[in-house]
Amino acid sequence: MKIDLHLHSSASDGSLAPRALLKKASEEGFSAVALADHDTLQGVGEAREAARELGLCFLPAVELSVGEELEIHLLGYGVDENAPALQGLLAEMLRDREERVRKMAQKLRDAGYPVDYERVRSMAGGAVGRPHLARALVEAGAAASVSECFQRWIGRDAPFYVPRKKVSTRQGIRAVLEAGGVPVLAHPGQLRLSQQALDAEIGAMQAEGLRGLECYHNAHDPATQDWLREACKRRGLLVTGGSDFHGAAKPKVQLGSGLERWRDAEECLDALLRAVGEAKRGR
Ligand code: AMP
Ligand code: ZN
Ligand code: FE
Ligand code: FE
Repeated sequence: MKIDLHLHSSASDGSLAPRALLKKASEEGFSAVALADHDTLQGVGEAREAARELGLCFLPAVELSVGEELEIHLLGYGVDENAPALQGLLAEMLRDREERVRKMAQKLRDAGYPVDYERVRSMAGGAVGRPHLARALVEAGAAASVSECFQRWIGRDAPFYVPRKKVSTRQGIRAVLEAGGVPVLAHPGQLRLSQQALDAEIGAMQAEGLRGLECYHNAHDPATQDWLREACKRRGLLVTGGSDFHGAAKPKVQLGSGLERWRDAEECLDALLRAVGEAKRGR
């Protein structure tokens, strides 16, 4: 059974619309997928309908950008799209995304680069972000690639970078739980922490209600996968995996990338689905 629990659509910075994404997954033989767009659930309705037509098991999800010092990506599996607290948080995050990208675009314009916020905004179906700003710069001929834009202008240490408004990890976990979802730490290996520091961070998040770790991900090497599995076992956390597929936006990552060693994916999915059911009942 092929399973991929971390996909992005054009509702955030993926290149395929939700329906086209689900169709591709079905054609490639996947039987269960989760849509986990950055800070938005706008793609979920279309994806769910497509999954029903295609006979795929579908899990709605969101990938929240949270954390104060760290840039933490928190997955919320099985969240209810209409839950007021989560809706409120996502609306706030969307406003901040728009404001932040507008500011970065303005700074670039003031420095003489040909970029127009309205064009950038129109490139995202929902949650606009730096990748859209970078694509607009490439489209205007100012840079050769998205990664060049991050390196020269809008990466964390670059001159036109504007930080996001901080949402605490605790607030993110709360919003997922209140929406009947299961909070899971996305690609922990990308935090680039020592094992000791990562373990402490996971412990702190678990105390706030974290329920699982994304052990399998395109950016995790086998040693990282094994360490994370061991941490799940030791702490009683759920094991998840997802490629973080973005389509042509990240051409090196295919559906299923990084999930080759996930041999018990079906059992892990069953456990996650049970946890989602319990989260709904326990709300
Ligand atoms: P934002 O959510 O607007 O802060 O943009 C962050 C997103 O930009 C991440 O989720 C990545 O997909 C993408 N990103 C971050 N750094 C780079 C980079 N150096 N090159 C290309 N894409 C990047
Ligand atoms: Zn992304
Ligand atoms: Fe992420
Ligand atoms: Fe992602």
